[in-house]
Amino acid sequence: MKAAEDQVVEDEAGHQDDETKGFLTAFEYSAKRKQLFCVTTGSIEFDKLLGEGMESMAITESFGEFRTGKTQLSHTLCVTAQLPGEDSYTGGKVIFIDTENTFRPDRLKNIADRFNVDHDAVLDNVLYARAYTSEHQMELLDFVAAKFHEEGGIFKLLIIDSIMALFRVDFSSRGELAERQQKLAQMLSRLQKISEEYNVAVFVTNQITADPGAGMSFQADPKKPIGGHILAHASTTRISLRKGHGELRIAKIFDSPDMPENEATFTITPGGIADAKE
Ligand code: ATP
Ligand code: MG
Repeated sequence: MKAAEDQVVEDEAGHQDDETKGFLTAFEYSAKRKQLFCVTTGSIEFDKLLGEGMESMAITESFGEFRTGKTQLSHTLCVTAQLPGEDSYTGGKVIFIDTENTFRPDRLKNIADRFNVDHDAVLDNVLYARAYTSEHQMELLDFVAAKFHEEGGIFKLLIIDSIMALFRVDFSSRGELAERQQKLAQMLSRLQKISEEYNVAVFVTNQITADPGAGMSFQADPKKPIGGHILAHASTTRISLRKGHGELRIAKIFDSPDMPENEATFTITPGGIADAKE
């Protein structure tokens, strides 16, 4: 049985606002793809699961129950995105959109210590905004695009923690589901465009809900991310997070067309996301 949120017309998702973008030759497109970079998660195992880390020109979504580390991963990425990395990656600035009021600058200081970088410099390189409604969240993307345009190449990562929380509140009744999905599709289309146009990595977190259809089958995981097909199709990579023993967490590639369904174990430390010690 299809979830109700998937039954709504999905027009908007397919209709990217493309009038400013024309054709490129495959050669030009290939040159553009060469600018791709990856931001490390802080865990080598987790990075390997994703290839090399969170890729630019793409949306990476991670979803899981409370305390699975979505916000901690977001904080870690705020710091690691600033560090020069492999393949001549220079590091750069970050924009963090917080919908749940769980961003803590002090966490960034602890994470900065782990990577031996200056507190003030790290905090200075993260632009923070709190979104209060889904509409406000969308408006903030205008600012994000303007900022990325203004300071071309300086910003490397956009984080939205979490992408769905305000949509859930603003469109809470069943009757508003179609409208919610339509608005969501517009936002995701915008995010895709931003990530490709400015060559930034977009990282979004998401919540899960019990799947009402799961009881009818022998499905291994009865929990699924919210947002329906619209979000499923917009995210380039989807990662499910779940709890292991103690501070251990397990990341799993979910529903990827081209990656095996591998898992990686990591841990949450005062210095952010890290490899689990043997
Ligand atoms: P929610 O769905 O509620 O937003 P979440 O997936 O965002 O949850 P996080 O806030 O990222 O969850 O993870 C919280 C967990 O991170 C805590 O339960 C704890 O295990 C760990 N944690 C938080 N702060 C620290 C710290 N300073 N040092 C070590 N571990 C920490
Ligand atoms: Mg959180």
